[in-house]
Amino acid sequence: MTPTTTTTDLQRFRMHIGGRAVDAASGRTFESQDPFSGKPWALIPDGGPEDVDHAVAAARAALDGEWGQQSGFKRAALLRRLAELIEANAEELARLEVRDSGKLYREMIGQLNYLPQWYLYFSGLADKLEGRAIPSDRPNFFVYTRREPVGVVACITPWNSPLLLLTFKLATALAAGCAVVVKPSEHSPASTLAFAEIVAQAGFPDGVFNVVTGWDRSVGEHLAGHRGVDKVAFTGSSATGARVAAAAGANLNRVTLELGGKSPQVVFADADLAAAANGVIAGVFAATGQTCMAGSRLIVHESVHEELIRLVVERTKTIKLGDPNDPETEMGPVANRPQYDKVLGYLEQAAREGAVVATGGGPAEAQGGLFVQPTVLTHVTTDMTVVREEVFGPVLSAYTFRTEDEALKLANDTPYGLAGSIWTKDVHRAHRMAAKLRAGTVWINAYRVVAPNVPFGGFGASGVGRENGIDALHEYTEVKSVWLELTGGTRDPFQLG
Ligand code: NAD
Repeated sequence: MTPTTTTTDLQRFRMHIGGRAVDAASGRTFESQDPFSGKPWALIPDGGPEDVDHAVAAARAALDGEWGQQSGFKRAALLRRLAELIEANAEELARLEVRDSGKLYREMIGQLNYLPQWYLYFSGLADKLEGRAIPSDRPNFFVYTRREPVGVVACITPWNSPLLLLTFKLATALAAGCAVVVKPSEHSPASTLAFAEIVAQAGFPDGVFNVVTGWDRSVGEHLAGHRGVDKVAFTGSSATGARVAAAAGANLNRVTLELGGKSPQVVFADADLAAAANGVIAGVFAATGQTCMAGSRLIVHESVHEELIRLVVERTKTIKLGDPNDPETEMGPVANRPQYDKVLGYLEQAAREGAVVATGGGPAEAQGGLFVQPTVLTHVTTDMTVVREEVFGPVLSAYTFRTEDEALKLANDTPYGLAGSIWTKDVHRAHRMAAKLRAGTVWINAYRVVAPNVPFGGFGASGVGRENGIDALHEYTEVKSVWLELTGGTRDPFQLG
């Protein structure tokens, strides 16, 4: 993608600010590329700080106006309507995501078909934001709490699964009564722009949902540090997350951060190895490894290492690379050129540092474009870069353990803590390990499952706060305590209470 000011016959998208479809104030656009064809296909408004200012002002006006007065029952009804419209438009939205990110149609249509459940789940909570009456230790007071929307929420999202990761924030924010300004990734902005039209059709008042796009990262920077914003909800890399948190912190704003990962898949000797091999493949090669929860470290008991690697390599060699729209395709291209170069850089470095390539190891040249071979590395050590850093590509690093304690130590030997899995038939061991893994999500004999009602988020460098589930709703509300004096009498002004 490159910035441009030319107008072509590419599909044209517009930003959404205050209920209107608008171009960037500067009139500039940039081209969005299809990673499979390598060709530009869409023109996206190249917004700037001025557009962010307008969007934040529109969100504030919505909160101060009709939206701020709407009951939870009305918000629930709007969320249910939005769920219906997503269902009706799932195919079109999925196609846009495939075009923009190169991810498989079968994965994206699966995500889009599941997306309404988020809005339905949170519609069920929108009218249940209750405060409580607190028994006062003073007889002359009645005390109660109110849960109020946190205010204007800035959502900054990455290029993988744009609408799913937006929904993790948006469904909750709308249920809580917040107004939202979204800044999607410059690498896959189209589906979010199209989605804004659907939100408007659902009947949400103008300014409740705004989208600003821009090629330059300063657009996100300006939004994250905006004084008109009350909370920043960010998904992206840990490095950017730290900058976003600093910008939000300068305004003492709330923040939730869903960041990177280096998740372990721990396979014990008693595991069903065929199921584990399948889970390992799903964990690291689905979505071309471009998921925050990728199970990129395989930590396997030494007695079954050889057999498991044989099974994983055998299946890896049959993974069908190709057109993301082809239902037969199992792995698409890497989503953009910088990410492609980054993944190949990690593979070169792994070879220099002594990792052994069991399969893959470089670009998938026969496919052309931005394809990387699904890669299994063995004989890695815990100090290697490929084991320590998030590759965000189809690269698995495998190493061994002898005891449960050692497995745990290796699994937790990472600054990240997003997810992890344990493969064993021993239920006692499974729960022991689940309790001690430092990760926000632990799967036992499974991988890569999420749901609207189950909290998701990370320990350590993987983030701050949780998305999804009832816990997440509290991240979008402020609690207010109200004290009502019951006697109408006067009190000693110099005494507390
Ligand atoms: P990124 O951090 O480069 O960008 C994410 C978003 O932040 C983009 O919209 C970008 O324009 C914006 N941005 C960039 N610099 C900014 C700044 N200084 N201030 C404000 N916004 C800024 O991440 P990416 O490359 O788009 O996505 C890949 C990363 O996202 C991976 O590290 C992955 O693990 C992570 N991720 C995490 C989750 C999760 O839920 N934990 C899910 C998906 C992806």
